[in-house]
Amino acid sequence: MKPRKPLIAGNWKMHTSFADGCELAMRVAAACKENREREVLLAPPFITLPAIAKAVEGSGIIISSQNICWEEKGAFTGEISPQMLQDAGGKAVIVGHSERRQIFFETDAMVNQRLKGGLHHGLLVILCVGESLDAREEGQTFRALESQLKEGLIGIAPDALDHLVIAYEPIWAIGTGKTASPEQAQETHAFIREAIATMYEKNIADAIRILYGGSVKPANIDALMAQPDIDGVLVGGASLDAESFVRIINFT
Ligand code: PEP
Repeated sequence: MKPRKPLIAGNWKMHTSFADGCELAMRVAAACKENREREVLLAPPFITLPAIAKAVEGSGIIISSQNICWEEKGAFTGEISPQMLQDAGGKAVIVGHSERRQIFFETDAMVNQRLKGGLHHGLLVILCVGESLDAREEGQTFRALESQLKEGLIGIAPDALDHLVIAYEPIWAIGTGKTASPEQAQETHAFIREAIATMYEKNIADAIRILYGGSVKPANIDALMAQPDIDGVLVGGASLDAESFVRIINFT
């Protein structure tokens, strides 16, 4: 089995001015030049994305959007097409983030369309899945994740999965300071890999990268990355601080 290259992704959400974003990106880029064994991805707000793409040129950092429309163009107020993203320097997209699902009522069907739009244009797509606190407490974690995976991946052919990354983000751990323990995260990642093997094939499941997201910090990154099925992380808050994010990239 080919080793899975670790992917460290920073989701800046609706943070950073142009100036702050460029400075942060340049500091991360400088660190990446020294560490090519890891893939690093930054997802700035749409409006600053071209400036951030320019700031990290030559560093190998992948620039991503935080969402994408499935249509090419048309009357879709407030949306950005995959081609527009690519024109601006984007090579990847996050879909199905729990904030999109919860605050903006995005359904699994919409997430599936966004995912298809991204893959169709050759973007690297990060599909976020995660259970609520209620689901976890009621013992429904695996059921919730299986349903999000099945619905999110409707109509996706096996060969498209080499452009797909899954991010497991328990909703109760996002921005709360509560992290899933490394053992909890490992158990869930192993379940996700098994679910992909059942839906597709074992070799596809073995190759796919599964990221953990939810209050990842310099203090917990090493223990999380020591788990066999954790192939990287999706980081919110701690990606806004260059020192913290660089420490996360340089996990041991
Ligand atoms: C996220 O937004 O995907 C996230 C995991 O946020 P945080 O690291 O702040 O919990």
